[in-house]
Amino acid sequence: MTKKLFIKTWGCQMNVYDSARMADVLAPLGYQPVDEPDGADMVILNTCHIREKAAEKVFSELGRLRQMKDRKAEAEDGRMILAVAGCVAQAEGEEIVARAPFVDMVFGPQTYHTLPEMVAKASRAAGSVLNTDFPAESKFDLLPEEAGAQGVAAFLAVQEGCDKFCTFCVVPYTRGAEFSRPAGQVLAEAKRLVAGGTREITLLGQNVNAWHGDGPDGTTWGLGRLIRELAEIDGLARIRYTTSHPRDMADDLIRAHAEVPQLMPYLHLPVQAGSDRILAAMNRKHSADDYRRLVDRLRTAKPDLAMSGDFIVGFPGESDADFAQTLKLVTDIGYAQAYSFKYSSRPGTPASAEGAQLPEEVKEARLEALRQLLDAQQIAFNHGFVGRSVPVLFDRVGRRDGQLLGRSPWMQSVHAEADARLLGRIVEVRVDAARANSLAGTVVTTETTTSRIMAGGHIAPSPFQPAATLEASA
Ligand code: SAM
Ligand code: SF4
Repeated sequence: MTKKLFIKTWGCQMNVYDSARMADVLAPLGYQPVDEPDGADMVILNTCHIREKAAEKVFSELGRLRQMKDRKAEAEDGRMILAVAGCVAQAEGEEIVARAPFVDMVFGPQTYHTLPEMVAKASRAAGSVLNTDFPAESKFDLLPEEAGAQGVAAFLAVQEGCDKFCTFCVVPYTRGAEFSRPAGQVLAEAKRLVAGGTREITLLGQNVNAWHGDGPDGTTWGLGRLIRELAEIDGLARIRYTTSHPRDMADDLIRAHAEVPQLMPYLHLPVQAGSDRILAAMNRKHSADDYRRLVDRLRTAKPDLAMSGDFIVGFPGESDADFAQTLKLVTDIGYAQAYSFKYSSRPGTPASAEGAQLPEEVKEARLEALRQLLDAQQIAFNHGFVGRSVPVLFDRVGRRDGQLLGRSPWMQSVHAEADARLLGRIVEVRVDAARANSLAGTVVTTETTTSRIMAGGHIAPSPFQPAATLEASA
């Protein structure tokens, strides 16, 4: 009998990937995904613990779901199994059970391959099933293969956990120690994805560029080598990876940006802050100039590389002068897109115990100033594309009839009027208008192939490159 499964996902792409895998694990038990929680037989909240607000939202959502669960029971329409998964479950499992005893299952990110057993237990017994173990076996060895096609653009987790222990971050505690999936397992999953119609794969990890593994040839591979092997898969047109740490940017990975045409010219490389004093207090183990030099090397290898990053403002003890260094670094690098956050004190992390927590107004003002600068850079970057044509991989239908949505190589969201048959194809689109978060264009030819990209046919008109380079490559 088919049962309705609703999963709500917060946070990073890793959570999006995990949610898809949870659906795969539950499919043999008859659970099929639905778009609404009301009336569902199982609701899973896949949560994020990175900032305080993210965790708070879970408790308010649980209040709403409790009413739906009660309504279903009153209507004698069976039982709604309510589950909290992900990093809030890992970090606050016992508190959830105590504060919300109507929740049936609470489980961390490393345990969802055991969902069938947890469901069986929850169905038999009253009270919550709590599972926040870090099991000795890797879930990746035990998860079933993906249940069906994963879409034109798919995620593939290659690495999980983190050993860096930045002083502000919960990830090493919620996701555990750094772990790399074996190369053979990753290549096999990639081949299955491509066979199912996927044309773009984003390799995922909390520190994805720390990935290393024994290749089938007996040598140790880094992420650069893995990307080269993935690029050999026929039909895989685009490869991306996220999120990277500046200290793990190996030479071979930088070279891969120059040499592997399928590796897209976009890199999310968080730096967090521009002041060396704050970077040291964050335990980032690199200076602002180390980061500048690294970006220089990357842009030498790949001149049209679009940079993205993460920033935290208002870290304990951050002075106006420290913050000015962050603005200076942003100005020097020039980002195509970036995420910025107010520092959020996370219980159990070293920075939360620091005395010099900053007032909320200071954090607000700095966030606003940083966002203005980043927004201006993003708009300038996008405007540089107007009048040019870019290869777009259409991966979704748009909200308006007859519209398709896709991504440029530089990760911009592009929409155009296009025949639905172009879904899954890389198509040349002339950019007519640019907004902060998207480009609007017109399909000019459907003939684009990866060889056009391989031939270096597209160099981003980045405002951060010397004009001469742009003219030469136009
Ligand atoms: N591993 C990545 C790295 O080293 O940059 C980032 C992983 S983390 C899931 C994503 C982003 O959340 C971080 O880059 C950081 O900017 C932000 N973040 C993490 N902890 C935070 C905190 N306590 N307060 C505010 N932002 C935080
Ligand atoms: Fe968190 Fe990234 Fe630092 Fe690891 S490297 S502790 S995931 S911010």
